[in-house]
Amino acid sequence: MLNGLMMQTPLMISTLIEHAARHHGDTEIVSQRVEGDLHRSNYRELACRARKLAGALRDLGVRESDRVATLAWNGYRHMELYYAVSGSGAVLHTLNPRLHPDQIVWIANHAEDQALFFDATFLPLVETVAARLKTVRSWVLMTDRGHMPAKTSIANLLCYEELVAPQADACEWPMFDENAAATLCYTSGTTGDPKGVLYSHRSTLLHSYAVSLPDAACLSAHDVALPVVPMFHANAWGIVYAAPLVGAKLVLPGPRLDGQSLYELFEREQVTHASGVPTVWQGLLAHVRAHGLRFSSLRRTLIGGAAIPSSMLRAFEVDYGVDVSHGWGMTEMSPVGTMGALKRKHAADSPEQRLAVKAKQGRVLPGVDLKVVDGDGRELPWDGKSAGELYARGPWVARDYFKNQRSGVLRDGWFPTGDVATIDADGYMLITDRSKDLIKSGGEWSSSIEIEDIAMSHPAVAMAACIGVRHPKWDERPLLVVVQKPDARLTRAEILAYFAPKVAKWQVPEDVVFVDAIPLGPTGKMLKSKLRQQFRDYRWPAG
Ligand code: AMP
Repeated sequence: MLNGLMMQTPLMISTLIEHAARHHGDTEIVSQRVEGDLHRSNYRELACRARKLAGALRDLGVRESDRVATLAWNGYRHMELYYAVSGSGAVLHTLNPRLHPDQIVWIANHAEDQALFFDATFLPLVETVAARLKTVRSWVLMTDRGHMPAKTSIANLLCYEELVAPQADACEWPMFDENAAATLCYTSGTTGDPKGVLYSHRSTLLHSYAVSLPDAACLSAHDVALPVVPMFHANAWGIVYAAPLVGAKLVLPGPRLDGQSLYELFEREQVTHASGVPTVWQGLLAHVRAHGLRFSSLRRTLIGGAAIPSSMLRAFEVDYGVDVSHGWGMTEMSPVGTMGALKRKHAADSPEQRLAVKAKQGRVLPGVDLKVVDGDGRELPWDGKSAGELYARGPWVARDYFKNQRSGVLRDGWFPTGDVATIDADGYMLITDRSKDLIKSGGEWSSSIEIEDIAMSHPAVAMAACIGVRHPKWDERPLLVVVQKPDARLTRAEILAYFAPKVAKWQVPEDVVFVDAIPLGPTGKMLKSKLRQQFRDYRWPAG
């Protein structure tokens, strides 16, 4: 084979921020800080501080491939860590602060995190878990000296700004194999423990290019991008890389994710492009409607992580003139697999027909390939009717999990997503079901198995199943179905109180129903599909 004669420059995350600093140096990064104020910086400053932070990491003893964890909101310091950690050859591990502390401990120990950087919001959480984090040597509060706590149980708590300030801005980013690990993000599994998805520099850059394309997020130097999707959810869907890549102004909302705060930030900073799960848009739309407001600058929303309700699609598109791109993806896909832009042929369609196409999860990003297969692994036709398990492959799709003990994640080189879907003749994919039993509440996964496990540890419970039931605010909430032991007299309040100290608040079942029996399948497993059918029209208690 004759080799091409082009430079073999590795695809490095550090090149994104250096590109932005050089070509979009004065483009703003605006962050709502945990400290309460709005902070303004730009790409030139971000790159400079990331280089200095890389020096600080070196002084802390962080070496190549070490994992550096964060517990942080979307903000400029978190962005600096994204570039400093990966850029210097270490691995940024974004912990999800919404998980139960026990899960955070398990994940941080599994990842063998060496350092933990966190926002002040999470100081109490870190104090609770610190003694159980076996590998963490450095604890850094992401703030300045004036906001450091007077008292804390964490010995040698370091101050972020004091680490950065004395460093010289002299760091040259190292060049290394583009397949080196860059970031780590854990996903909740249907069974057993969370699984670590380990992104590489190469996969991240290829994903960023694809996400920015016109038929995907359609981001450019004209845009003001606001990712509501957290940076601890698969790198904010890649927006933290795509924005510097194209030179878009970036607005980071910090901890203020309610409808009013988001609307005010949208208007003040003239946001054109926003991305997040359906739940956050519900809050925003409710606020806008209640106060008779309009969006003066918002042109596009990227909505995914869960199916977008058709009423929300209509509200954005018809009532507010905001273009919606419905995206599908998963942590294992970096995370974006499809997005929902229309084709030229749809220009002739009626508005209703166009909305019907947009309600689907969209077309695949170039670089990734999809297929739907039947139970025997045979590919099904793209007819918009044949539903089967969705398989994916491509350079930003996981081929294995971090420190995976079990073999064979892939099937014939394809990643089985666990989603059930159809694909139509134009390539638009529609998720029809989930083969998983996880419950997605407000964009966060809840493991039904974990809930059942706790319920069944109650002395009066014979059997328990937890299913997701549609909820007007949170997409889905867990409903606990319980069979009591003979002669037991358990009440709803008693069992809910039993959960309170054991799981995060949002994982506590929304309601409990008592039944005589739970249907079982041929291998003795609970038939949750049948239960879901039974409780499909279940009404949540008011309030
Ligand atoms: P996560 O790894 O937490 O991002 O969750 C990925 C899962 O969320 C997918 O496997 C789907 O089941 C679900 N999901 C993501 N986007 C969508 C969407 N647009 N519509 C329906 N389900 C979705």
